This record gives sequence, structure tokens and C-alpha cells, in this order.
Amino acid sequence: MNLHHTLRVGRSRLAGSVFLPGDEGYDAYRQPLDPTLDPHPAAVVRATGATDVRRAVLAARRHAVPLAVQATGHGTHVAHDGALLVNTGAMASVLIDPDRRIARVGPGARWGDVLRAAEQFGLAALSGSSPDVGVTGYTLGGGLGWLAREHGLAADSVLRARVVLADGTATTVDADHHPDLFWALCGGGGSFGVVTALEFRLYPVDRVYAGAVTFGRERAAETLAYYRRWIERVPDALSTAVLLTRDGTLVVKAMYAGDPDRGRALLEPLWTVAGPVRENGMRVVPYAQAAMGGTFARTFDQVGTLDDDLVAGLVAEADAGVEIRHWGGRIAAGSGAAAHRDLPLSVVLDTVPSTQTAAALRRHGRGSGFLNFLVDASRTESAFTTANWAALRRVKSTYDPDNVFGSGLAVPPAAMLTTV
Ligand SMILES: Cc1cc2nc3c(=O)[nH]c(=O)nc-3n(C[C@H](O)[C@H](O)[C@H](O)COP(=O)(O)OP(=O)(O)OC[C@H]3O[C@@H](n4cnc5c(N)ncnc54)[C@H](O)[C@@H]3O)c2cc1C
Repeated sequence: MNLHHTLRVGRSRLAGSVFLPGDEGYDAYRQPLDPTLDPHPAAVVRATGATDVRRAVLAARRHAVPLAVQATGHGTHVAHDGALLVNTGAMASVLIDPDRRIARVGPGARWGDVLRAAEQFGLAALSGSSPDVGVTGYTLGGGLGWLAREHGLAADSVLRARVVLADGTATTVDADHHPDLFWALCGGGGSFGVVTALEFRLYPVDRVYAGAVTFGRERAAETLAYYRRWIERVPDALSTAVLLTRDGTLVVKAMYAGDPDRGRALLEPLWTVAGPVRENGMRVVPYAQAAMGGTFARTFDQVGTLDDDLVAGLVAEADAGVEIRHWGGRIAAGSGAAAHRDLPLSVVLDTVPSTQTAAALRRHGRGSGFLNFLVDASRTESAFTTANWAALRRVKSTYDPDNVFGSGLAVPPAAMLTTV
């Protein structure tokens, strides 16, 4: 019996729907956000609950095809050709427990759903730059948001997950149950199982002072030189990024989760160095409306500081969008699997860097990636420290030795150990 036959026969036992090539709906559910991808999965299961997910995993396993997951398609950079694709978009429940400051969401929930539900209680989640991004994919990939310096990466705020494992069993994973798997899931991405529910902390953040201030680009070198010292004395409640745009402006993006006057006073020295303000978009806004778009990371690296030759290279990048973002704070303090946390700055270009910038990044950068900003699956290892990559591969060997969840930005199982 082949996979299609298994799924056709099993259709009546699935609460959700199965779409095979040629079926109406197959095209709608196979497509990720990236229009340049044209994936042809063997089948799509539009799951409505954990039982559907479980049946899909067992079918994929039985027929030795990879199992891929898609919630919103925002983080799908590899065509899941030939895989059994589980679409979780219909499992979008959101429950808020305001007393315990916890959210419990289905795997199809988007950040906008959570932000709207949480703000009624004066609570915020560690969301990122877009309300349309899926909560689960974002969180498993680390989750770098504008509150991360104060409250850490989203992956570090996960309390519990329900997971369907590669053998089809459904289990609860937290600090006391499968702690190795819990550590790997929270930052190691979707390689270890299919999450069917996620529970994470919320924070009492209501309104924030946030937005962007635009300047000319004339004083870009002085501004970045000042920025490298200025970030050393700002509190964790202030997050910033400096952007050099293709249209010749320098933009300082900022979010301060505290008294706006204090936020303004902290930012003013940086603005003064940057020159005359062209446009001031800083406002006091509800956190749920404060999302600020990021720069597409064609090139990503992290550095310890902004050395002069790197600044010179970045400032000379007239035909690129450049973003320098301040990490540190609680991100550095966390011990989860995600990211290279010791480096306080990321440098992103939306294109391939010039020879000068590339050379400066080679000299000062670590060649590191961040799982959520990676598009090249062959660079997945770069998103982790050497020790964490080795530990993730060991966890993978324990929970998914046959690499059922091996499609996309995946962690491969460690090589089998031979005993002599
Ligand atoms: C416009 C935009 C803005 C962004 N802003 C930020 C940002 O500010 N900070 C940040 O950190 N990232 C950001 N990202 C990156 C984003 O977090 C990742 O692309 C993430 O993978 C998206 O998850 P998704 O579920 O929406 O995407 P999908 O394409 O549906 O899923 C991506 C991957 O997540 C995994 N996954 C999803 N659901 C499950 C599940 N239930 N079980 C197991 N694995 C699962 C799978 O590996 C899957 O391949 C942004 C991306 C975009 C396009």
C-alpha cells in the first residue's frame, strides 16, 4: 500500500482534510509565503487536532517519507517536495490565563491573535516584527523580539509543550518531563517533533514608547561609532537598531518599555549625533500595535563591537539595506539552545556585501546565523554554538533517529556510536 492509498483509506478517520496532488485545496495549502518556491509534497494534511497530526506522522513513518510542518509558511525556505506536509493553520486556539500570566496556544496561532487576546489583561508576549508570523515556528526558532533584551528570547519563556514524537506518541514536554527534549525544542527548531500546543509566559507590558526616527545619512559613520559605546550604558528595557536604507537615510528604531520621558532622555544623545531629524515617528503606543518590520537577512552575522573598518564598509554600502541591532541583556543571560548569545550586535544586509564589508565581517564576525533568519538549510549549524549543535544532534538521535522530521532547516541525528 502506498502513502496515497493509506491516506485515502484513512481519510474518514481524520477530523481534518487530506489533499493529494490534483485535489482542490492542494495548491492553496502546499504554498509557503516565498513565491519563488513551488513545493510538491506527496500530500497535505490540514490537521484539526493532535490525533490528525499523530496519524500523519504514523503514515509518513510507515511509508518512509519525511514529515514537514507548515503553519503560516513565513519560515518555509525549502520546498518540501515528496514530504507529507501537515498544515496546522486550523489549530489556532489562544487561551490566556491572566492570573498566572500564561498563554496556551494551538500550533496554528499567529502573534496577532495572541497580542490581541493578551492586551485585554495588560499583558504582552515576546512577539517579533510581524503579527502574521506563526507563534510556534517563531518560538521554536529562538524568537527575537523587541522585548528580548528585557525578557529574553521567546524560546526561553516556554513553559510546556504538547508534542507528537517521531514514533507517533503524544507527550507533554517541560522542565520535568523529557528535559533534554524540552531544551532542544526551545530554540532548536522543528526537528524533534510536531508541537500541538505551546504554553509560555506573558509579561505585564501595556504601553511602550516605540517607533523610528529618520535622519540623513551624512553622519552615519559618526553615529555608528557613537552607537558602539552608547549601547554599553543603556538599560535592558531599551532596544534599538540602526538602519542604513537604500534611499539614503539613517533610521534609529527603538522600543522602550518604561516611562517615555526616560526613554526619550536615553535616546536623545544618539539622535543628536545622528544629525537633524527628518521625521520623528516615536510614539507611546499599546505594545500590541508596536510591531516594527525588520530587514530581510540575505547576509547575517554577529560581532562583539563595531570596529572602524566594519563601520566604513557598512556606510559605503549605498545599494544595500543594512541593519545593526543591539542584542545583549536577558538574551545573553539565557541558557537555551538558540543563538550565539555572547555577541551583543547583529549585522544584517538585504543583499550580498561588498568586498570591503565581507572582509571586515570575516575579520570581526563569527560567521554565525540565527535560525529564524536563515534561509539556507546548508547553514543550519551556523545558528548554534558548537556545544549546542552537538547536544541538539544527540537529542535528535534519541527522539528521531530515523530523521522523520528532517525537512527544512533541520538538525540531523548524531552519527551512530559504535562500541568496540
Ligand atoms: C515578515 C517576517 C517577520 C519576521 N520577524 C521575526 C522577528 O522579529 N523575530 C524572529 O525571531 N523571527 C522573525 N521572523 C522569522 C520567523 O520567526 C520564522 O520564519 C518562523 O519559522 C516562522 O514560523 P511560521 O510558523 O510562521 O512559519 P512556517 O513556514 O509555517 O513554519 C516554519 C518552520 O517552523 C517549524 N514549525 C512550525 N510549526 C511547527 C510545529 N507545530 N511543530 C514543529 N515545528 C513547527 C517547522 O520547522 C517549519 O518548517 C520573521 C519572518 C517574516 C517572514
